[in-house]
Amino acid sequence: MNINITVECDTCGEKTNCRIGISNREEQPFRFCCQTCGSPIDMILRQSRGGEFHGAKQIQPDLYPFDDKTNFVDLSLDFPVAFGKYVMGKTPFMEAFRRIGHEAMGLHGSRLAYLTEESAPKQRVFALLLKLFRNEKWTPFKTSCKRNFNIEVKSDKPEDRAAALYRIITNVMMPFAYPNQDEEASDYNGRIMQELAGKHPGSLRAFMAEIMGSGFLKNLQNACLEIYPKILEAELPLRPVLFLDFDQKFANNPIPLRISNEAFESYKDLYKDISEIVSRQLVLVAGINNLLKRDNHNAFKSDIGMTKGGKDFTPKSLHDFADVPFGKKLGFIDDSWFEPLKDGADNQLRNAIAHVKTDYDEVNQVVTYYPRLEGMYQEKAEQITFIQFMKRLLQTYREMRRLNHLIKGLFYLQYLIIDRDKPAASTPKA
Ligand SMILES: [Zn+2]
Repeated sequence: MNINITVECDTCGEKTNCRIGISNREEQPFRFCCQTCGSPIDMILRQSRGGEFHGAKQIQPDLYPFDDKTNFVDLSLDFPVAFGKYVMGKTPFMEAFRRIGHEAMGLHGSRLAYLTEESAPKQRVFALLLKLFRNEKWTPFKTSCKRNFNIEVKSDKPEDRAAALYRIITNVMMPFAYPNQDEEASDYNGRIMQELAGKHPGSLRAFMAEIMGSGFLKNLQNACLEIYPKILEAELPLRPVLFLDFDQKFANNPIPLRISNEAFESYKDLYKDISEIVSRQLVLVAGINNLLKRDNHNAFKSDIGMTKGGKDFTPKSLHDFADVPFGKKLGFIDDSWFEPLKDGADNQLRNAIAHVKTDYDEVNQVVTYYPRLEGMYQEKAEQITFIQFMKRLLQTYREMRRLNHLIKGLFYLQYLIIDRDKPAASTPKA
């Protein structure tokens, strides 16, 4: 269903005609910027109680169907919409349907329905549950698993707590997963863990002692756990991005698409935080690669960091590797067992964001960034649209998610194999 309304900008008095594709959410917050003066206009539509407007007021439309001279926006929470003039019948839904077809529309719709009905309402208790796990508050953790998520923690063994935690994460975060990606990552990591335990038991122990003893693995897991609720909180601008999973033409599509709930500034830091986690996760990838190939987690392929000028930057240990800048890390992992996702970690964009070298055009939803550090001169700008940025945010999150399966697998190795083989600490002396 679509509704058509006209609003008048509080700042410049110019009118904007809006065609709004209604989704199945009770509350539908939209944000766009006045094309004349750039001021943000917020509308919250509620199925039961009409609308709320900030930065503009609703007025009677002059004409219907709309003319093509007045400012116009298509708005939809569920689909990307095109910029451009009003064309009768080219509604956000019909355009989306034309792009991906019947079957994919069904899949997209069912993921969004799950997000609206199951995941989003649990945002608060989910964030709290992850915090209880991080802080090792086991009694309330168990209670919350059962009460809020209907998951029983089988025992007080760490592997049973972890199993409950990861089951809940999979359920709540399901709408953000690329179809089957979770299962594949979990199976694949399981096989790697088996290979490590079977073929490299001694050197695996040394690796585990280092990443467990230093707190590295636990801290990294905690960092991942802090991200999940933030992705869930970014639900509104991510909904149209999830649509792109089915829209194969998007990557090469020259027509800019927009998101109807824009706020680039709010997601900059989240992108940076997730990128930094992925960078730390690569330490595990490198350590495991070294184990598989050279039976020693500290042993990088010799001369892999040798420059043409004869300088050798090959990391001397995994500890050294951890300090290597994100963009250079993959280059030190020879013939990696791990295949990174496309756009899963864009170092240049991360750097630009980390050093606050970005400009955002809210009206056209274009992010301009300056990937290279160039002193006072911000030349060589790159541009991406907000929807492309949010797609990279989603991909980077998915990369973190895949590597979180690796963290989970390493903890299981520790609980189920390494801890179990230890002599009991409390054996009384003879
Ligand atoms: Zn205006």
